[in-house]
Amino acid sequence: MSNFENTLAYAQQLDTQDELKAYRHKFHHPVINGKETVYFTGNSLGLQPKTTKEYINTELTDWANWGVEGHFHAKNPWMPYHHALLPKIARIVGAKPHEVTVMNSLTVNLHLLMVTFYRPTQHRYKIIMEGAAFCSDHYAMQSQVKHHGFTPEDAIIYLEPRNGEHTLRTEDILQTIEDAGEELALVMIGGVNYYTGQLFDMKTITEKAHIAGAKVGFDLAHAAGNAELHLHYWKVDFATWCSYKYLNSSPGGVSGIYIHEHHVENTELPRFAGWWGYEQANRFEMKRQFKPMKTADAWQLSNVPVLLLAAHNASLDIFDEVGIPALRKKSDLLTAYLEFLIEDVNARCENSPLEIITPKNPKDRAAQISILTDERGKSIFDALTQANIIVDWREPNVIRLAPVPLYNSFEDVFKFGKVLGQVLI
Ligand SMILES: *Cc1c(COP(=O)(O)O)cnc(C)c1O
Repeated sequence: MSNFENTLAYAQQLDTQDELKAYRHKFHHPVINGKETVYFTGNSLGLQPKTTKEYINTELTDWANWGVEGHFHAKNPWMPYHHALLPKIARIVGAKPHEVTVMNSLTVNLHLLMVTFYRPTQHRYKIIMEGAAFCSDHYAMQSQVKHHGFTPEDAIIYLEPRNGEHTLRTEDILQTIEDAGEELALVMIGGVNYYTGQLFDMKTITEKAHIAGAKVGFDLAHAAGNAELHLHYWKVDFATWCSYKYLNSSPGGVSGIYIHEHHVENTELPRFAGWWGYEQANRFEMKRQFKPMKTADAWQLSNVPVLLLAAHNASLDIFDEVGIPALRKKSDLLTAYLEFLIEDVNARCENSPLEIITPKNPKDRAAQISILTDERGKSIFDALTQANIIVDWREPNVIRLAPVPLYNSFEDVFKFGKVLGQVLI
């Protein structure tokens, strides 16, 4: 992309050519101190679609009008409410509709899925995870291995970058899997690392782990609605994600899970059960003996949070209209333009204070760029905040930003580059 230019006119020209430019206006952009912000933290909490209120209001109205009868008589009956969402979710993660469902929140689902897929024995009990995984994933893995009577020191193998590098090499991940061999029970890593923005080669990792006889699960918190996913085709065993980051489905919104069809059809699998996982046709007979659905719904314990699902549905309808390929196409260009602007400022500074720790190759990343700075990092962050540009600061000195293709523009990215240049040059 050597023909990029660091000018407002050029950024505006890219916006004019942007096929998704209309979508920016379908979201509420936060206004702080009377000024609209430039929002780059969609990887923490996605913006609110303008339609969300209406979707939730429909359910509030039906609750007022119908009470309990809304389970069957609401405009969108609540009993099968989530079924309308499943095909849309399946298209986002590359699965079949009966391989996905919605329930709980992400860390809860990590635990519930490990009840089924982490079945350690005395000889095969190890888990491979990222050394730089999100903290909640560390706590989940550690408590799981302890729950089964092992110690994290012995049972967890951490993937670390080579000296002087920031991201993991696929060859090193594959070697670690091979070395763990018959002791390996589970590979459980992110689809996109939350800190560096590295997108992993999930297909290759899954193949290798299966050769070793292990199960594979992915935490897709930063990948769902961001990266291109083909979970079914890659034969991934299970995955879970939250809906409030790139999926714009409200703070603390409902989480999604995926379980490969050859597992969902196996009613003998161990799981923690609840009534909402019971065969739908006979659920209200309320029998003592549990009979699971032959779909990912079998892992649902409780009846579904309809208001959260309404918020989720508003966003899913936008994703369905746009489609992941169109999103990826814009996202690659938007991320590349951001990268160009950062490199341009860096090249014009004395002693190049910025290092992008996100992979350079577009196939190894999605929307996010993470910048490692020097001691000027905090002043850059403060200047951005002053200019109403919202980015994420991670101690000791990393700035993370996600130019989100649904609602960020090339002009947004240009404004970031401009403030960066003003502080540093
Ligand atoms: C955001 C995030 C979480 C958050 O977990 P919740 O249970 O939704 O609070 C967990 N893991 C990863 C990798 C994340 O990025």
